[in-house]
Amino acid sequence: MILTTNQSNLGKMKKTTPGDKLAVIEEFNASEGAYIDKDTIRALRLGIADYDIKRREIKIEPSRKVKNIPIVGDNVIGQVEAVQGNIANIRIYYINDRRSSSGFTGMLILRSGRSPRKSGRKRTVLMLGDIVKAKVTSYENSIIHLSINDNGSGVMYTTCSLCGGSTERLDHKIKCMNCGLIEERKLASDFGEFYQK
Ligand SMILES: [Zn+2]
Repeated sequence: MILTTNQSNLGKMKKTTPGDKLAVIEEFNASEGAYIDKDTIRALRLGIADYDIKRREIKIEPSRKVKNIPIVGDNVIGQVEAVQGNIANIRIYYINDRRSSSGFTGMLILRSGRSPRKSGRKRTVLMLGDIVKAKVTSYENSIIHLSINDNGSGVMYTTCSLCGGSTERLDHKIKCMNCGLIEERKLASDFGEFYQK
């Protein structure tokens, strides 16, 4: 049995648009929502590709049937679990204000602002452990791409990086209520409301 090029897709929920290449015919058969184009299996419709390894079949579940998978345009709330270079990984806890326990991770590319940089210093957008609100912008290669560029999105909750104290909003920055340290973040419009319960 040959199982090569699409092995990385197994067990992942790959969002599809019509015509997307899913596998080659040596690997899988086309089932519901998929079709064979020469030696390639392609998606017939928008949805989530379901690779059935036992039966060697691929079918496409229509998006609306698939519960609680973040799709483009959704708002998510999650926690920054890794920052490397200009990429932050966000563990997703809420999708459109509904709790998600599926353990999705989104990728956020941190860009410096569009305004010309005067100091040359990079602006701190978020830090490890922050709770952020973000928007799903794409779903390429099984990766959930997130953005915090719109006004509503950004950091909702954070603690002081110096002492771990609680923080409050100070215009477009945050201030530690314990030690007074002022730090930069890209703040969500409803910063501080998430953890008030
Ligand atoms: Zn502090």
